[in-house]
Amino acid sequence: MEFELDSPSSPLAAPQEPPQIRRLEECVVNRIAAGEVIQRPVSAVKELVENSLDAHSTSINVVVKDGGLKLIQVSDDGHGIRFEDLPILCERHTTSKLSTYEDLQTIKSMGFRGEALASMTHVAHVTVTTITKGQLHGYRVSYKDGVMEHQPKACAAVKGTQIMVENLFYNMVARKKTLQSTVDDYSKIVDVISRFAIHHTTVSFSCRKHGAVRADVHSVATSSRLDAIRSVYGPSVSCNLIKLETSDSDPVGSIFSMDGFISSSNYMAKKTTMVLFINDRLVECTALKRALEIVYAATLPKASKPFIYMSIQLPPEHVDVNVHPTKREVSLLNQERIIEKIQSVAESKLRSSNTSRVFAEQTLDPSQLSPFSSSKDSQTDSPPTASKSQKTPVNKIVRTDAMDPAGRLDAYLKAKPLEGLERNPSLTAVRSAVRLRRNPKETADLTSLQELIDDVERNCHSDLLDVVRHCTFIGMADEILALLQHGTHLYLANVVNLSKEIMYQQVLRRFAHFNAIQLSEPAPVSDLIMLALQEEDLNSESTDGDELKQNIAKLNSELLKEKMEMLEEYFGISINSEGYLSMLPVILDQHTPDMDRIPDFLLTLGNDIEWLDEKNCFQGIAAAIANFYAMHPPLLPNPSGDGMHFYKRKATDNRDDEGNTIEKADIQVEEKDEIDNDLLSEAETAWAQREWSIQHVLFPSMRLFLKPPASMATNGTFVKVASLEKLYKVFERC
Ligand code: ADP
Ligand code: MG
Repeated sequence: MEFELDSPSSPLAAPQEPPQIRRLEECVVNRIAAGEVIQRPVSAVKELVENSLDAHSTSINVVVKDGGLKLIQVSDDGHGIRFEDLPILCERHTTSKLSTYEDLQTIKSMGFRGEALASMTHVAHVTVTTITKGQLHGYRVSYKDGVMEHQPKACAAVKGTQIMVENLFYNMVARKKTLQSTVDDYSKIVDVISRFAIHHTTVSFSCRKHGAVRADVHSVATSSRLDAIRSVYGPSVSCNLIKLETSDSDPVGSIFSMDGFISSSNYMAKKTTMVLFINDRLVECTALKRALEIVYAATLPKASKPFIYMSIQLPPEHVDVNVHPTKREVSLLNQERIIEKIQSVAESKLRSSNTSRVFAEQTLDPSQLSPFSSSKDSQTDSPPTASKSQKTPVNKIVRTDAMDPAGRLDAYLKAKPLEGLERNPSLTAVRSAVRLRRNPKETADLTSLQELIDDVERNCHSDLLDVVRHCTFIGMADEILALLQHGTHLYLANVVNLSKEIMYQQVLRRFAHFNAIQLSEPAPVSDLIMLALQEEDLNSESTDGDELKQNIAKLNSELLKEKMEMLEEYFGISINSEGYLSMLPVILDQHTPDMDRIPDFLLTLGNDIEWLDEKNCFQGIAAAIANFYAMHPPLLPNPSGDGMHFYKRKATDNRDDEGNTIEKADIQVEEKDEIDNDLLSEAETAWAQREWSIQHVLFPSMRLFLKPPASMATNGTFVKVASLEKLYKVFERC
């Protein structure tokens, strides 16, 4: 190898004459081009099957040997190839499908370049057997490097064409070696045939390994797409699908129609399967796939990736089919708008379709639960001052509302006379209704819930909605404020308010359809409430006796036990008959609330809910959950900021203990050191987790789901801090 040319320090790197430009031999050009069109065995299969489809076949059978490297044979019952065309069949740029460039704009066939067969003959041995209608016999002929190796021979043939590709890449040693050493292409071939089979339902497909009796894909022509999906992907897929349809006919926006199936919440898979046809072409569209994955990630349990079959039809002139050598990708006019529309129907379908949700139980990592006990310790030890100031009083936990821009929520806490109050069933009625309503879909009949959802929609601020949908998250400016860019503007946004609001809205939307966070160790409700009362005490210096607190805790926990059926059915909060909290709802996937806040949450539920008015009751519970799940700064001070003092100070205390009697000092030092390290690593994890959640859970789901209330424009949730245009002006002057 001549590395010296690249090395400037080499004494041999003397100035060179410009190299001579030569014309490549045609066979080299062809082989290079062929290597691009036929990248692997599966690309040859795809081209051959597309040719069979273009020939209006109703049955297509594929046989493969050695992952396609030894043999690929595709037989169809299409219209066949005319005898006169055989001599030029495998020359480059010979096609029956296109004659002028303009035809590309309206082309319906899959092929149009006349390159596939030619390419195959440059990298493999190709034999074609074909018969056209009305002929008594067919012809067989083999090709090499684009030309016939001999005159076509008459032979017996059944209707259609059979193309055999043997010894693929026999003359491309490197390619063959890489392919042989990687996983064999057979599974990719099965995958492609499966995809064709569920789209072209009037064609029957089969795919088998050479010599195998059983086919790995076998579909029969059917008029039902679901049947086709069942026969190819099995009932575990076909039984868990939701039909999806949408279209747009706005000539200034986008024109398209889409129909398909997407998996419901009961479908479980580790990898996304996306079968996408655009104008009947099997293509890939990474942007659309990602967009749909986001919808699933934000709506369903994290373990599940979707199965998606989608067929999109667009005016042919809106699709550029000629952007990829294997035609695997296409480019669309108004792609973003189309994706956005599809995303939003998918989201609403998913949300409303969970008629028979199977609970995906997530077990909580016990280490996440431990803050429970250790926070108890730290509170009694020496309450961190920072944690007190971070606490939000219970009466401020509710979403703000357009009528109440300052965010004061006393109106909500007092019983507001509501129109239709008489109509609203009392809680007893609700609870007996719960017993009757086993089909969760019917819960959508609850008018008060609908009213709350309508309120959210009505209060939505359209400019902020645009900011939320299209902003870029830059980073955290401090513990509460995130820096966002929207167009040319920079905003500071309060993540506590934002997360509280989105949690509130999601509780309403997922009402009665929650997935569960199963607590690995159920916790006694009355002890937790007691804990919250004690802490309230520390904050307010009140002197209620312990006995009184015990009573309050007991009463509250009794009350919650009484409401447990409703709490579980509607909100996914489960309290068992012994009064232990055992289950919490998933509000945003991949987000678990800060377990340190459970005591407060339970106290709020016990104390502050207006159980007798349905709408107020639902709103109160949703708000309490929202406050609990919101992304507050962790109660432990941030170790990477000023908060480090908190942990260090305790270490100094230890040193002060020196000089005491040996046994006593030993015990204390050991104990305190341990608490410090534990607390520190606990704090570090909590802060890191929060930051991750803000970026990867809060912002992506906000873009999809948040309807920002108008109050957010004025209550400091969003503050515009700079316009980039103005900043540029400043820089220009510098
Ligand atoms: P393209 O599909 O772009 O036209 P190909 O090289 O794939 O180019 O095929 C060249 C031509 O051979 C096609 O235009 C078609 O007329 C003919 N052909 C190929 N395969 C078949 C087939 N299975 N049945 C009938 N005609 C075929
Ligand atoms: Mg073709």
